[in-house]
Amino acid sequence: QEAASRPRVILFCSPCMGHLIPMLEFARRLVADHGLVATVLFASATPSPSEEYLAVAAAAPEGVDLVALPADEATLALPSSALVRDRIAHAVACSLPRVLQIARSLAPPLAALVADASSTAALGVAAELGLPLYVFFPTPWTLLSLLLHLPELEAAVPGEYRDAAEPIRLPGCVPIAASDLPSPMLAGRSSAAYARFRHAANAFRKVGGFLVNTFQDIEPAVLGRVDGLRLPVHAVGPLVLTRPATVARDHGCLRWLDQQPRGSVVYLSFGSGGTLTWQQTAELALGLEMSRHRFVWVVKRPSEDPLGCGTFFGNQEGADAALDFLPEGFLERTTSMGLVIESWAPQTAIMSHPSIGCFVTHCGWNSVLEGILNNVPLVAWPLYAEQRINAAMLEQQVGVATRVKLSEGGLVCKEEVARVIKCVMETSDGEILRKRICEMKDRAVHAFSVEGSSTQAIAQIAKIWKSCSCAN
Ligand code: UDP
Repeated sequence: QEAASRPRVILFCSPCMGHLIPMLEFARRLVADHGLVATVLFASATPSPSEEYLAVAAAAPEGVDLVALPADEATLALPSSALVRDRIAHAVACSLPRVLQIARSLAPPLAALVADASSTAALGVAAELGLPLYVFFPTPWTLLSLLLHLPELEAAVPGEYRDAAEPIRLPGCVPIAASDLPSPMLAGRSSAAYARFRHAANAFRKVGGFLVNTFQDIEPAVLGRVDGLRLPVHAVGPLVLTRPATVARDHGCLRWLDQQPRGSVVYLSFGSGGTLTWQQTAELALGLEMSRHRFVWVVKRPSEDPLGCGTFFGNQEGADAALDFLPEGFLERTTSMGLVIESWAPQTAIMSHPSIGCFVTHCGWNSVLEGILNNVPLVAWPLYAEQRINAAMLEQQVGVATRVKLSEGGLVCKEEVARVIKCVMETSDGEILRKRICEMKDRAVHAFSVEGSSTQAIAQIAKIWKSCSCAN
């Protein structure tokens, strides 16, 4: 069929790299496997594209149009102290008129509007276009279940969530301890953060369906129903970017990895936005040294950001600054043992290298899926968003991670850093994690086999969209 007459899906993404990456892969599958046309619109929050965005855009799949919508003046004028979630909300809101304009300028038929989980404000645009809004949920079902159960939880949990003595129990999900709840829930029910969280949860009840980047074998509860709700939920994962950027192959760290023994290197990364404080960064460096294992560490300039996501929109400020925050002599002492990469690394290429034996991760869901797909056992070091829930699930339910323990004051001390790394790299507990992650990888691969659950789920949704667009 000619591209002009093929049904088109418009996918709108908030300025979150961790949302854009799996969304692009979802778009690729719609185009390559189901003959749809896909336009991905990315709401920028920075004046010029960040290094991170450019790296992802360079690896965008063939056949998928990716357009960055520049941030407006109001978003750019936000003070540097503005919270990440406010910046995201601004960038999304200011992009909506352009999403509508672009959608109207594209050749029909339009099949659906898909917005990532931070962009439910696009409901109005979908209504104007006469299209259903589907939410692309880049994180696990457990979080979506929490959001969809919020009204019941409000009634069931007296007082503030942070004071709850009992964990929150959702059908089929890992029990969620109060301290692991997302920060808006911990902020208190009368906080603005919670109001926004609640607003998103309400909006979720009005959408046409969910596309969740998970798979049945890792979260069997995704098949369950939320009482009183009839929202179609499609488990379409694990979606990770399959086409590594060309630049990745030339990256010096891959040549270094080629020279290391199989399974001998610890890879450490806290995602696109994760930052540690100055003290925590130094403690991590010393612990790494104490572990005596080889490493590749993607290090960000320390930040005192209370939520631990100081580089969410790119590491633009201070990206060229020296690594002066590392403990004195650290780089010299570890020169034969490890590599420190500033700001952004070709993670999927690194993770698939046979020399990688352990992944210290902030538990961003893309990173977790990449760890699973590469058989690399995890050290869970959650920082922000739903990452503490992911860490609990990976350790207690899925059995593929060991979680760092915080000392008083919330610090992960150097002894603990060395302990968790040694646990994964040297002990029988680490072997158990490795075995379990290999099993989970097989199931993840199976989800995308011809008869696999995620292949079927995407085929089903593509069929629905094609039939809707024919009716347009
Ligand atoms: N990533 C990367 N290089 C880096 C850091 C991150 O390629 O130096 C990619 C990583 O492979 C993953 C995504 O960025 O696909 C981060 O998503 P995740 O959900 O793990 O965390 P987030 O950044 O959303 O917190």
